[in-house]
Amino acid sequence: MAWDERQQRLLAAMGLRVWAPPAAGAPAAEAPAVAAVAAVAEAEAAPPVRARPAQAVPAAAPAQAPAAAPWSPATGALAGLGWPELREAVAGCRACSLCEKRTQTVFGVGHPQAAWMVVGEAPGEQEDREGEPFVGAAGQLLDRMLAALSLTRAADGEVPREQRVYIANTLKCRPPGNRNPTPEELAKCEPFLVRQIELVRPRLILAMGRFAVQALLRSDEPIGKLRGRVHRYQGLPLIVTYHPAYLLRNLPEKAKAWDDLCLAAEVFEGRAGGTALDALQPAQ
Ligand code: SF4
Repeated sequence: MAWDERQQRLLAAMGLRVWAPPAAGAPAAEAPAVAAVAAVAEAEAAPPVRARPAQAVPAAAPAQAPAAAPWSPATGALAGLGWPELREAVAGCRACSLCEKRTQTVFGVGHPQAAWMVVGEAPGEQEDREGEPFVGAAGQLLDRMLAALSLTRAADGEVPREQRVYIANTLKCRPPGNRNPTPEELAKCEPFLVRQIELVRPRLILAMGRFAVQALLRSDEPIGKLRGRVHRYQGLPLIVTYHPAYLLRNLPEKAKAWDDLCLAAEVFEGRAGGTALDALQPAQ
């Protein structure tokens, strides 16, 4: 099979190389017997942690100023909130016990009017420290995958909307020890994600990982069974794929994630047909 230029860029970005038959007369290379794509191991060193500015210790509040009640998804009309208010609501949320151990909430990153939206799972240690989703090795892999499709998380107004990506997690606080979130925690936090999607109004959602899929599709099926077709969330096309952190631990799965990204690009451009569109799921 011949890969077009974009497919080759995507393969390279994901650390995959295409096997090509040796030229006539050339010494035989160690070619895979069946697969056309071979995963290339890549040990990715974690990037240096960006120093956070020192934060001044706030002065004690005057005695006569009663503290405002902390926000939680259940105590306010999230449906009416704009970006600043929603960010503030997340930062002050104490609706579940994850608030107790967090360094800070991890709201989201990217242009607020993006055509693509990536939904991940929960902040890890580095995200908790930096306050941004998808940092570290998994974040770098995601950025390379996005760049292969000419997409960026940069909130740069010069970038056309079709190339902008907004990234948010299903949970805004880190589960201690990177344990799996509980169904209760996911349920408590979900309204924040719902409002983010409403505000971004993306043209396509990429759901990365089991908990993102559970939240958006209400499905307990494994990723392997849900990927490869077009689902719907509130009428928006939604593509399921593996979380980059999982791909770093399971290198051969990168080829599948590459297929998922190609499908997402085809759907976005209105080029997906046949199998993918035949499998459209009813609106949630
Ligand atoms: S995880 Fe979500 S619901 Fe729980 S405290 Fe954090 S922001 Fe609130």
